[in-house]
Amino acid sequence: MGGLNWDTPSLQQARRARAEELRARYPRSLALSSQAQRVIPGGNHLSGKALVDFETTPSYFDRGRGAMLRDVDGHAYVDYLMAFGAQLLGYVRPEVQAAAQRQGERGNLLSLNHPLHIELIETLLPLFPGAELGVFFKNGSEATTAALRIARQKTGRRSVARAGYHGWHDWCLPRERFVPEGLDRQVPEFRASDPDSLRALFDEHPHDIAAVILAPEMVLPHEPAIFHELLAITRANGALFIMDEVKTGLRIAPGSVSARIELVPDLLTVSKALGNGWPIAATLGRREVMEVAAGMHYSATFHGETSAIAAALETIRIVREEQVQQHVHELGQRLIDGLNAVVAASAVSATAYAEPLPAMPFFKFTEPDAELNAVLTRTFYREVLARGSLLHPRHLWFLSAAHTEADVDDTLETSRSALRKTLELCGGL
Ligand code: PMP
Repeated sequence: MGGLNWDTPSLQQARRARAEELRARYPRSLALSSQAQRVIPGGNHLSGKALVDFETTPSYFDRGRGAMLRDVDGHAYVDYLMAFGAQLLGYVRPEVQAAAQRQGERGNLLSLNHPLHIELIETLLPLFPGAELGVFFKNGSEATTAALRIARQKTGRRSVARAGYHGWHDWCLPRERFVPEGLDRQVPEFRASDPDSLRALFDEHPHDIAAVILAPEMVLPHEPAIFHELLAITRANGALFIMDEVKTGLRIAPGSVSARIELVPDLLTVSKALGNGWPIAATLGRREVMEVAAGMHYSATFHGETSAIAAALETIRIVREEQVQQHVHELGQRLIDGLNAVVAASAVSATAYAEPLPAMPFFKFTEPDAELNAVLTRTFYREVLARGSLLHPRHLWFLSAAHTEADVDDTLETSRSALRKTLELCGGL
C-alpha cells in the first residue's frame, strides 16, 4: 500500500519504547554477545549473526528438541531455521542420536579405514542420479571444492562457471582482498535463470571452463527446461556439470532436485540435511569422472570420523521410511498459504513464497519504499521472535519432520499478532 505515515515523531518514539521493552527480554543473550565481542572477531561465528540485532532479538540458545529451540533466557521457539537446514528430522532424533553415540563409544575416529565409510557411499549412490562413485567430507564447502578439483583434473582446464553460494573457500569469494589475486578470472559467474549468460561465458573463455557449478535453488522460475538447457550448453562446450545440492539433497522429493527434474549431472554435492546436525558431506558422480579422484589429494584428519557417518546412515533410513520429503513440502506450503492469507487481511504489501520449493519457504515485505521495508522487516521479525517463532529475516527457512500442522498454525497466529503490532508501530492501524 502507499500511504503508511510511518515516520512521525510519535511512531518513532513508540518504536524506540518497544525496542527497549524487547531488550529486557534477552539479558543473558545480550551478556553473552558482549562477552563474545571480547574474544571472537565480530562477536560471533559466521552462522551466528544477529537475527535483527543483539539487543532486541535472541542470539544464544542452549537447547533444541524436535522443532523447538530454547534460548538462554528461557524462551521457547518453533524453529524454522533448523540449523540452516541441517536438522531435517528435528533436534535430537533419538535413533540418530543413539547411532552417533554408539560410534563415539567405539572410538569415533580410528587410525585408518572403517567399514562404515563404504556403507555410507554405498547407501548414497543409488539416491542420486548418475552417482557411481563417491567421497565424503565434513561440510558443504569441502564437497564443492572437491568437485571443482576433480573437474579440473578430469578436463585439464582451469576455470569454473558458477551460480549460487557454494561455501566459504577462496574460490567462492574471488573478489575479496584476502584471496589470491586473479582468482576472480578463474571462477566467472553466470545468472542461473539465464542460459544466455552461460553461453556468453563459454564464448568469452573458449576451451578454458572445466565445469559449471549450479546451486539449483538459484533457478527461478524453477523450470526443468532451464536446467536442461544449462546442461546442454555445458556439454556442448566440453565441460562438466556439477549440481550443488548441499541445501536440497535429501530434503526435496525424491531426494534431490536432479532426480526431481530427471537431470543426470557429472558431479553432485550434498551435505546439510544428510547427518541431521552431524557434520557430513559428499561429492558423488559418474564413474568416468570421479575415478580421476583416485590420485588426488583431498584428505583431512577428521574425514574418517564415524559418529557423523552413523548419524547420516540413520537419517537416510528414516527419511526413506517416513515420507519426510512430502511432509516438509506440505507444511512449507501450509506456512506460505497461511502467511499470504495473514498479509491479505492487512494493509501492507508482503509476500510468502517457495524459495524455490515449499520445503524452503521465505517471507518478505514488498513496499516500494526501501526504508519502510527495512523498518517493517526489523519490527515484524522482532515481534515474531518475541511471540515464540524463530523465523529468519534474511535467510530462507526450513521445515523438518518434527514440525506439525499445529506448529505451523501456531506460527500463523503468531505472525498475525506480530503483523498487527508491526502495523501499530508503523502507522498502518
Ligand atoms: N553449497 C550450497 C548450495 C550451500 O547452501 C552451502 C551452505 N549454505 C554450501 C555449499 C556450503 O556448505 P557449508 O556451509 O556446509 O560449508
